[in-house]
Amino acid sequence: MIFIGVILLLAIGSLDFLIDLITTGQLSFSIFYLLPILLVTWYSDRKSGIEISMFGALVWHVSGIISGYIHSDHLLYYWNTAVRLGFFMITVIILSKLKETLEARTKFIFLLQSTLDDLKRTRVELEKRAQELERSNADLEQFAFVAAHDLRSPLITIGGYINRLRREYGGSLDDKANEMISLAFKNVIWMESLIKSLLSYARIEAKGKKFEPTDMKEVVESVLANLQGTIKDRNAKITCDDLVTVMADKAQIIQLIQNLIENSIKFCDKECPEIHLSVKRDEGECVFSVNDNGIGLDAEHFDKIFGIFKRVNEKSEYSGTGIGLAVSRKIVERHGGRIWVESEKGKGSTFFFTISEFVPAKFDT
Ligand code: ADP
Repeated sequence: MIFIGVILLLAIGSLDFLIDLITTGQLSFSIFYLLPILLVTWYSDRKSGIEISMFGALVWHVSGIISGYIHSDHLLYYWNTAVRLGFFMITVIILSKLKETLEARTKFIFLLQSTLDDLKRTRVELEKRAQELERSNADLEQFAFVAAHDLRSPLITIGGYINRLRREYGGSLDDKANEMISLAFKNVIWMESLIKSLLSYARIEAKGKKFEPTDMKEVVESVLANLQGTIKDRNAKITCDDLVTVMADKAQIIQLIQNLIENSIKFCDKECPEIHLSVKRDEGECVFSVNDNGIGLDAEHFDKIFGIFKRVNEKSEYSGTGIGLAVSRKIVERHGGRIWVESEKGKGSTFFFTISEFVPAKFDT
């Protein structure tokens, strides 16, 4: 670039000299000295710009001397050349600063663009993964549903045969054989309840209904009617605040509240289990809580108990398969909410879940 600048300056200097000769110094051509200086500074660097400025000032100076149109006072002519050189250098410094700023901005824009491209790529990738996950989840649910459904009928047949064996041949068998038969039968019953649990879990998505305004007061009334036997047997006291209307699959919300209340009664060693249901509104979301005076839980189990077939207590201590809270979580998640527990061993538990409130549309009259 410097070489091109030198050639251009020599050409401009020659033209300047010729124009000075022809027009006897009346026509100025000197502005064009700036052109090669600007070009070299822009396309090369500041150092080359300063070098070419010095060369430009020299060419201008020499061209003036050769053409003979110089100031009568030679000292003034040198002074003018020094001023020109200063002007060139200031121009070079300003231009190179501008260039640096522009380069930094271009770099920043480039970086921003590539970050945006990366983000776009990541988003597409994430969407693809989410779709794959959704598909594989649906496949898994379908698989669990079909497997559980198909496993039930051979199990019922096995149970039937074991029962028949006990009835028809029990008398002719010794105690050990009878004990083995009843153990086998007990396990068939246990397996059937596990399969039933699995089916109820798989049905949440597969058989879920669409959401509609659901009055929670009616939900609680249905639950109390379903559990009236247990409530009476355990002498349980159930109270609730004023409840709201939510957008939900009513049957599933009944199942959810029933699971929580049933657990509160079951996991209570007091004479009279006390359960209180309340609701708080929080930015369009309703936070429900089911509080009890039961046996409570250690914090280390807070997450675990929402997993499939996860239980804290010994199988024989309290009945159940460990699916109730997994079903509850799936129901809440299907409704776009969250479920969690706060508790302390021996001091009762509070199960919370969130769900969207039903807000009736407003019509202008
Ligand atoms: P299940 O009731 O069949 O055991 P759940 O999934 O409903 O299964 O509950 C999982 C575990 O969480 C229970 O085994 C119990 O240890 C614990 N749990 C649930 N509800 C309560 C409660 N209200 N108080 C204390 N522990 C509870």
